[in-house]
Amino acid sequence: MREEWSDVSCRASSLIARSRSSWLRGDIAGSLAEIEEARRVACPAGSCCRMPLASREATTLIMLGDLAGARRVLDREAPLGPDRTEPTWDRPLTLMLHAYLALASGDVERTAALAEDSLRTADACGLRLWHHLGHSLLAVVNVRRVDIGAAMACVTQLGECAMLGRAQHTAGQCAWITAVVYRAKNDVDGALRLSAELTGPGQVSRELLLSQPGAAPWLARFTLGVGQAGLARRTLRTATELADRNPRFPTVTTAAVHTRGLVENSLDDLVHASRAHRDVWARASALEDIGTFLSADPARLDDASHAYDRAATAYLTAGSTYDYLRAKSKIRGLGKAALPSLEAAERRLAFTQLTRGEYDVARLVAQGMTNVQVARVLSLSPHTVAFHLRKVFRKLTVSSRVELAHMWGARTSAESG
Ligand SMILES: [Zn+2]
Repeated sequence: MREEWSDVSCRASSLIARSRSSWLRGDIAGSLAEIEEARRVACPAGSCCRMPLASREATTLIMLGDLAGARRVLDREAPLGPDRTEPTWDRPLTLMLHAYLALASGDVERTAALAEDSLRTADACGLRLWHHLGHSLLAVVNVRRVDIGAAMACVTQLGECAMLGRAQHTAGQCAWITAVVYRAKNDVDGALRLSAELTGPGQVSRELLLSQPGAAPWLARFTLGVGQAGLARRTLRTATELADRNPRFPTVTTAAVHTRGLVENSLDDLVHASRAHRDVWARASALEDIGTFLSADPARLDDASHAYDRAATAYLTAGSTYDYLRAKSKIRGLGKAALPSLEAAERRLAFTQLTRGEYDVARLVAQGMTNVQVARVLSLSPHTVAFHLRKVFRKLTVSSRVELAHMWGARTSAESG
């Protein structure tokens, strides 16, 4: 069992390490060129550097908003495959990479299932190199599901991972996720303490702002909201510097425009960001910011309500009940009723209420399986399947298998659209 993989010393491995350093320095093009070169000189399939390379390449593509590209890399180099009784050393990482892609795609249930599997498998193998990634993903998932207690538990474990030195390459992202969880549980001081550290020009901030297109706007919005305009301006400076250094990368340039829209109160910038963001959650937050901007003008409350409505729908696409409920309450705050498009969105929300077991049963029944067939696939008794299915019917407010299949199909096509 290997404990560390950075002791691998082939040429591709050192290029992978250099690509990580370039990223931390804020040089995306350089980092990509090193990944490209590593792929060219990589050892044969199944050997030392292939999995580290797949991991580096897939996560980079996800951070740059190229989800299809990331999926191609994972399908080729780290396919999910069936569960094995004797997992190999790279199984926890494979599961984690697919979980990360699921989160970027807005599928919180799948993210949770894969991240939990990854942590479980890692514990079983005694290889916990990637534990911080699992706790980060689950912290985000739990905030989006409005389970702040569970999110706090993830943050505690994330802190332990950081003490053990596991989180050094993603320190900025881990700190930001912690700030987001603190904010969600109304610990404004805690959120502000971390945010202040993340606004500056250092490596930790660079790592965060290059990796998370919604982070700089979040930091600016939060610090402005608590009367810390100086910190918001500092975030804008850092985001703008990164954008100037990486003009070809829309995730980074859009984050800077979005941040400027907030700090300089520019509707044009916010509108630009709402169209240019690739990340669904960041795009939703730009729409919400447009709503907030417009709601300051009594003559434009209808436009504000419309922007919040689009934000609410986009948050559900990103799998965030938490943000959805806030956007919806802002529509009510304007004295407006939620628009009809939100009804479809609310039906989607019902899916996030399913437990893992209920979700699996619902998925298979929607494919047309009988209870006996589902029981065989999931290794459950038909009695348990029937029990889960009754709860699925109640939570999704459907009364037949046909209705369930119809609703499931509508949801899947909405997600791929
Ligand atoms: Zn190698």
